[in-house]
Parts: sequence; C-alpha cells; structure tokens
Amino acid sequence: MARPRHMHVLSSHRMSDPDPILLAIDQGTSSSRSIAFTARGTLVAQDQHPFEQIYPASGWVEHDPEVIWATTISTTREVLKQLRARQQRVAAIGITNQRETTLLWDRRSGIPVYNAIVWQDRRTAEQCRTLQDAGHENEVIEKTGLRLDPYFSATKLTWILDNVPGTREAAEAGHLAFGTVDTYLIWRLTGGRVHATDVSNASRTALFDIRTCCWDEALCELFRVPAKCLPEVRDSAADFGNTDAGLFGEALPIRGVAGDQQAALIGQACFAAGDVKSTYGTGAFLVLNTGHQLVRSRNRLLSTVAWRLEGATTYALEGSILSAGSTIQWLRDGLGIIARAPEIELLAQSVTDTGGVYLLPAFTGLGAPYWDPDARGGIVGLTRATGRGELARAGLDSVVYQTRDLLDAMTADGIGPSQLKVDGGMAQNGFFLQRLADVLGVPILRPKMAESTAFGAACLAGLGHGVFSSLQDIASLWEGDVRCEPKLEAGAREREIRGWREALRRVRSR
Ligand code: ADP
Repeated sequence: MARPRHMHVLSSHRMSDPDPILLAIDQGTSSSRSIAFTARGTLVAQDQHPFEQIYPASGWVEHDPEVIWATTISTTREVLKQLRARQQRVAAIGITNQRETTLLWDRRSGIPVYNAIVWQDRRTAEQCRTLQDAGHENEVIEKTGLRLDPYFSATKLTWILDNVPGTREAAEAGHLAFGTVDTYLIWRLTGGRVHATDVSNASRTALFDIRTCCWDEALCELFRVPAKCLPEVRDSAADFGNTDAGLFGEALPIRGVAGDQQAALIGQACFAAGDVKSTYGTGAFLVLNTGHQLVRSRNRLLSTVAWRLEGATTYALEGSILSAGSTIQWLRDGLGIIARAPEIELLAQSVTDTGGVYLLPAFTGLGAPYWDPDARGGIVGLTRATGRGELARAGLDSVVYQTRDLLDAMTADGIGPSQLKVDGGMAQNGFFLQRLADVLGVPILRPKMAESTAFGAACLAGLGHGVFSSLQDIASLWEGDVRCEPKLEAGAREREIRGWREALRRVRSR
C-alpha cells in the first residue's frame, strides 16, 4: 500500500519508532500469507502464495510440510523486502494458522515423517466411531469441549503413529515432535530451538483439558499418543523465541500465536463476554466470547479456548457452517448462473423474494448445530416461476438461516448476542449483510479492516512485545465500515425461518 512520501523520510529519521510494525504470518488452508500492520492498525505490506491440496484418497486431505514452510518463508521475505525499501522495521511477529492440521517430525533431522493431515481429512471417521461405541465421547466432551470427530488432531496423530512404520517406537523414545501448523512453523523459524504452541491451538487437538489448560494423560492413553511428543503450551501473547538470524537477515521475536478463528475474534475486538464474530469464507465460523467462564453448550456447539493472557483464560463457544462461500461457488461453477462470486449480489436483488424456494447446501453434510454428516443438499419449493434470481437469493439466504440457527443455539445456551461482527469474502456482499440483519434481528457490523485474522495475530504480537499494554489498546483500533439494522417486521421473519426449518427437515438424515 502506498504511503505519502514525506512519511518515508520522517520514519527513516526516527530514533525510537512510535509506530512500530507488527508482522502477521497467516498460514491458511489454501494459501500462506504475510501481512504487516502499523501499531495504529494500518495494513502496510502483504504477500500471498496459494498452494496445492493433496487428495490421496476419497475423504483424505494433505499438505506438503515443505510447501507450507516454503510459502511461509517466501511471503514473509517479500513483505520484509517491501518494508525495508521504506525503512520500516518489524518489532515482532505473530502467527495464526489453519487449526487442527497435524504434523509429526523427527527432532534430530527436523524432517516430517508424513505429510500434514489437514483438518478437513475424514480418514479417521471409523476410529472415532469405535471410540464412540466404546462410550468415550462424554469424557472427550467434558475435558476438551470438542466432540469425537476426525476434525480434531488426536486421531490424525494416532493414524500416523499406526501407519508410518517405526514412528510409534521413535515417538516413545522421545525422538518425534508433534505439532499443529503454528508449532511446526515456530520450530522451524527458531531453528529447532522452540517446541511450543499456544492455548488456543492446543484446545483443538482433543488431547488438552481446557478446564485445567494442561495436556491430559488419560486422553493421551485413549488416543494412544506418547505425551513425550507434545509441545509446551504457552499464553497466546508470549515469548515463542526469535527467528533464526539466517532466515530473514535479523532475528525477529515471535510474540503472538493463535488459531485462525481465535485470531479473528481478537482482530474483531470481541473482548467482552457476549461479543461474537462470524467469518464468511468457504465455510463460516461463528465464535462467541464467553469470558473467563467455560460455558457448556446444550445445543451442540463446541466449547473452546479463545486465548490465554498472563495466565487468565478466556473461553468461547463455536459453531461452524460447512458450506457458506462454497454455496456461491457452486451456483457459479455447478449451475453457471453467475460468472463471478460478487455478481450474486445484483442477481439476488433482481427479485423481491425467493417465491418460497429454499436451498439446502448440505453438500458435505451439515455442521453445527445439526452435526449430520450424512445429510445431502436439496432445493425445495421450485415452481415454473423460479429463475436464476430466486436461486441466487435462496443461496445467500441459506447462509443467513444457518447463521440464525447458530445464534439461536448460543441464545439457548444463555448468551444471546446483541450484534454480530462479520468478515471474510462474503462479508463484502451488502445485500447478504442486510439479510443477516433482517433474519437475525440484530445489527450486523463490518469493520474497515478486512483482514481480521491476520490483524488479530499482529495484535497478539503487539501485546506480547509490549507495543500494546492491554486489550483496550487494541479495541480502540476497531473501526466500523458498514452497519446494517434489522428492518424486516417480526411476523415475516418468523414465517421465513419456519419455512427454512421445514425445508431443512427434508434433507436431514436423522
Ligand atoms: P477462504 O479464506 O475460505 O478462501 P475468503 O474469505 O477469501 O475465503 O472468501 C471467499 C469466498 O467468498 C468464496 O467462496 C466466494 O464464493 C465467496 N464470495 C466472495 N465474494 C462474494 C460476494 N460478493 N458475495 C458472496 N460471496 C462471495
């Protein structure tokens, strides 16, 4: 991003920098990114590198660890180059990452024993069912806040130990190190000196007791994971070591780490109990801050750690929508009713309603709060009057109604949000935001800063490095861009939601 010339001159003459740069490494599922921010929250440099998804078998998804590493390093070097050209110096690095994705490597050589098994990978479904049938799910829910599902790291790690020859023995002997992507990057960035993770990432492994914030021996036994391979767990804003001086030409301190959804919660300044954000990308993730209280959902939401700062843990409730932006992709690529995703907005506005049509995007089953992996999608209510406009509108509405179902679950769990902050690709769609406000019945807020996830990681680094002294400093950086108020009258809202729930019943498998 261009800055006025006089600012370059000024900054190069500063003795101590009043507006230091915080660099976020955002290692995502489809790309690695690096983004630099000033401490005033301005994005000043960025680079992104998409990479290959590996699908070795049906339901399997892997990443090449070398590619994760190479794209992380190349984007970070590119951002540092842009910054150095303007004589801007990085004060600290924050890392945010695709969560649950599992790596195991040899401490002696640094070489991974297998590809990274990605969070979407379903290869351990059978193992999860066996554990469920043996009656272990309640213990897992009680301790971890999660469910017995292939989504989480534990069974992926077990799979590697069971299937890659020699790994179990090597792990028992203490030669192997397990990590989610943050841990793997920290290990490599520090030249193998630091084997650590933060609490938010640990809370997604299903090996971590979120009540005590410790790895749990009984869970390690249940999943047959040697505790010796687990990383040390630190606060989310803490000292994670310095980067190896040879990597970037200087040793940079790593001072903040959080999983992507937790980082977005921070980037969106959702710091009080009851604050909630929703990130609308390929899928959508709603995360509700529940404060220092670990809230147990009676409505099949996950309980998880939002972050831990100076030893104090903040908890969250989380629900994910499996098909959000991917529904729009399907309307584009599967049906061909639009050429580009943003076109959906005008097309949806070309009609006044869907004419009673509901699109049920259960392409890969349904996520929270339904948890129905065997459901498949459908379109109901078609008439001869149904056209592209109605389908476009029904597609956007399907994401709106799924959000409503999650918000209702949160309200039923005792914390009814009074507004919703949004980000991600779909949040660029103004029509969608107004529909959210109308159907949810609460104001929808979109910030000026579109990069909530990376910004959250940068904020943690700023906290860890002392650039910010409290969350309050970060909250003051949040600036609203769009605010949509609910306009639909209550009767119409209830009719629409009833229609959605009836339609949903037709595609559910149970
Ligand atoms: P991810 O990080 O999961 O790749 P992004 O946050 O980049 O996702 O958002 C991309 C998704 O948003 C795509 O699935 C795309 O279909 C959808 N999308 C992008 N722009 C719009 C829009 N204007 N209206 C609706 N959906 C959109």
